[in-house]
Amino acid sequence: TELPADPNETNSPRQVQQACFSYVVPKKPSNPSLIHASVEVANFLGLSQEDILSEDFLNTFSGNTIYPETKPYALSYAGHQFGNWAGQLGDGRAINLTEVMHNDKLYTLQLKGAGPTPYSRTADGFAVLRSSIREHLCAEAMHYLGVPTTRSLSLMLSGDPVLRDVLYNGNPAYEKGAIVCRVAPSFIRFGNFELFASRKDHATLQLVTDYTIKHHFPDIKVEGIEKYLAFFQAVTQTTLDMIVHWQRVGFVHGVMNTDNMSIHGITIDYGPYGWLEDYNPDWTPNTTDIQHKRYQFGNQPQIALWNLYQLANALYPLINDAKPLETILDAFSTDYQKEYLNMMRNKLGFMVKKDDDAFLIEILTELLQLVETDMTIFFRNLGNIQKEDTPEVALNTIKEAFYNEKDLNETVLNNWYAWLERYGNRINEEPFSDVERKEQMNKVNPKYVLRNYMAQLSIDAADKGDYSLVNELYELLKKPYNEQPNYQKWFAKRPDWARDKVGCSM
Ligand code: AMP
Ligand code: MG
Ligand code: MG
Repeated sequence: TELPADPNETNSPRQVQQACFSYVVPKKPSNPSLIHASVEVANFLGLSQEDILSEDFLNTFSGNTIYPETKPYALSYAGHQFGNWAGQLGDGRAINLTEVMHNDKLYTLQLKGAGPTPYSRTADGFAVLRSSIREHLCAEAMHYLGVPTTRSLSLMLSGDPVLRDVLYNGNPAYEKGAIVCRVAPSFIRFGNFELFASRKDHATLQLVTDYTIKHHFPDIKVEGIEKYLAFFQAVTQTTLDMIVHWQRVGFVHGVMNTDNMSIHGITIDYGPYGWLEDYNPDWTPNTTDIQHKRYQFGNQPQIALWNLYQLANALYPLINDAKPLETILDAFSTDYQKEYLNMMRNKLGFMVKKDDDAFLIEILTELLQLVETDMTIFFRNLGNIQKEDTPEVALNTIKEAFYNEKDLNETVLNNWYAWLERYGNRINEEPFSDVERKEQMNKVNPKYVLRNYMAQLSIDAADKGDYSLVNELYELLKKPYNEQPNYQKWFAKRPDWARDKVGCSM
């Protein structure tokens, strides 16, 4: 650990050597106010509804006061950004308040946007309301979709303006500053290990690895090289599982840099993420990645593997043998194919496995790209098809998913009929009834996801002080697999005005 001589200098930007973290002090917000808190997250931390409304809660989770006997800190980490080595990065606008043990579970509480740290480099350490709403809503939505993720306890306004943009006339465009409190077992990333490996600081590398395993991987009982391999194996498996979930719900992370990869295999860092609306594997929500599209939907599995290679390289000095690491990495692609296939079988309602399934799925994913087809609506409506339906009737059931029905020319239409014919035959081979199949499919094919325009509408209203939509979307997305007739309006294709709009991360 590193204790600065002058506490006033704790947060100034610098290269931090031989330390895993630095003690920091959050910036006091001028006028903090609570916008929304997640009762479920509060509860598992041991906090009640009453606690949420207390002064203590407001002060602690806005960074206004430091909770007694805690010492907030920022982690030091490095990373590969867009495939390039970026050196020391670290928690530039994240401050870990403390760790909490409740009901035998360990949680780290982290403020995002509570001011500069030694890792802020040239940036300000703050976050704006729009990106904080996107983080708060999406982290929670992902959890309720069954996708491993960090959680979000609270969303607050700081009362301070934050500068993000300069208008065309040269005037500064201030935005409302906001603070989110994220919750996860830890916020340790692949980049925490890369940092010390890159500096050839093997002592600290071992320290951080041993610490991580001891506190977060208690099931690993072996010692020495075996211990580090078991750790790498565990991270590889949970990362793979996470990606399969992303592909299942159509989530595109947008910035899969190694500093945004959690060692717990949970989704972390909600920046320019987006949801596939029309099914398009080439799509990325990240406007800074439009040229190479490194982090497009269809690349996510390969990128996860690429990132795992970087983690393997970082851990190598502790293992000194490339072979067992390569064995784990080599298994990733075949394991992924297997898990992906089973996930897609579930989406299609296949409870028994047939050899031809992979082929049927491949044709489908090609078909979905011939004309713009909404992924969420397509899979949800697919569950309404009946065993005795003709292809024509089946098409009627799914056609709501097409963005423009006029795009269905005769060739495309015939391709769809052919696929639906096969699909009809295939579900007739299942021993389950239409009702049972639909019930199973509805557990993996969400009805409601946080489409970008939905987040944007809630942001626009919140910016004017109206938080009703933030609340509404939060409630809606708590039950993404349920029919919610009152919220039927959110089961709709992206409106035309939102076509090329993507979220912003800063
Ligand atoms: P990200 O692209 O959000 O993963 O951020 C990459 C790095 O930049 C991390 O080290 C962040 O902590 C840092 N960073 C991003 N935004 C800010 C900000 N507003 N102030 C300080 N550091 C930031
Ligand atoms: Mg990040
Ligand atoms: Mg970010």
